[in-house]
Amino acid sequence: MKAAVVPALGAPLVIRDVPIPEPGPGQVLVRIETCGLCHTDIHAARGDWPVKPKIPLIPGHEGVGVIEALGPSLTAGRPLVAIGQRVALPWLGYACGHCRYCVAGWETYCTTPAYMGYTMDGSYAEHAVAWASHVVPVPDAITSMDASPLTCAGVTAYKGLKVANPRPGETAMVVGIGGLGHLGLQYARLFGARTVAVDMYDEKLELAAELGADHVVNARGDQQAELAALGGIDVALVTVPSPQAMRAAHAALNPNGRLVIVGLPSDNHLDLPIFETVLSGKSVIGSLVGTRNDVADCFEFHARGLTKVITESRRIEDVNECFDEVLAGKVPARLVFEF
Ligand code: NAD
Ligand code: ZN
Ligand code: ZN
Repeated sequence: MKAAVVPALGAPLVIRDVPIPEPGPGQVLVRIETCGLCHTDIHAARGDWPVKPKIPLIPGHEGVGVIEALGPSLTAGRPLVAIGQRVALPWLGYACGHCRYCVAGWETYCTTPAYMGYTMDGSYAEHAVAWASHVVPVPDAITSMDASPLTCAGVTAYKGLKVANPRPGETAMVVGIGGLGHLGLQYARLFGARTVAVDMYDEKLELAAELGADHVVNARGDQQAELAALGGIDVALVTVPSPQAMRAAHAALNPNGRLVIVGLPSDNHLDLPIFETVLSGKSVIGSLVGTRNDVADCFEFHARGLTKVITESRRIEDVNECFDEVLAGKVPARLVFEF
């Protein structure tokens, strides 16, 4: 099969002909139709984070495709693992189901997880192997092109807001209107909050306005003054991989404000003022993707017509140019590889 492979950390990806992987016990083989390009894939290929991915690596954790074969211990006909079923292959490739976090409904913080396209090969390929327990069925009403970005960008933004719970009467700010942010903005509206979109490119802010943002603010201007004039921020979801953007969002928070960090910069440290945090009761919350239920919620919202996914189709052969496009801020929201 054709696959895009990271041969070494920091090296460009190479398109290789590799053997179709065999599903092991508890796993399925999926013929991939689409896979979104998440900014995480760029961090993975560069080795940006303290914990490094497997190498060589096939990235990709927004894969959507059809189950083609079942691993040895699976029998056809179980609802989640029917051959021919279309499923999504999210970042959370596996969680044990038994540790205290899994049992409590926090499988994203499982003590023995596997991550698609990071600790196991992902969906930048014509086929991928996934754990049957952690693929998520895709409703017929959703195209694979739309389902791919919902599988990571959507669910991460949704879950980040869910933990901060913006309420009607509050103002929710989404910083970075890229893959995560363009969906985060729409979820913030579903939560009932007044919304503010922040980015450094005017085209992204135009998109935010089209998607229903109540206010847009360019981060290159006097962001603090503009946000203060809007009455401050109650919930800030920062998708930008930048400690400065996180500090700016923290500074804009009202009393009881919640800063949710989902962007993951290579610069792993964030300085925040303690006095302002304490005297205004601000919270700082990290959030990692979402559970299978959260992914299913995002699919359900979309099937009901409540969200719009902005995509452009690309060929996997152009993966390196696509990484450059994302880094240059030229992408409307999400690039999706079609196989
Ligand atoms: P993206 O490149 O699609 O979007 C980033 C957006 O931020 C772009 O619109 C860009 O123009 C904007 N931006 C850049 N610098 C800015 C600044 N200083 N101020 C305001 N806006 C700015 O990226 P993405 O795929 O949405 O991912 C964003 C980050 O989230 C990455 O670090 C990724 O690894 C991380 N991520 C985390 C999780 C998680 O579970 N926590 C899941 C997925 C992605
Ligand atoms: Zn992702
Ligand atoms: Zn677990």
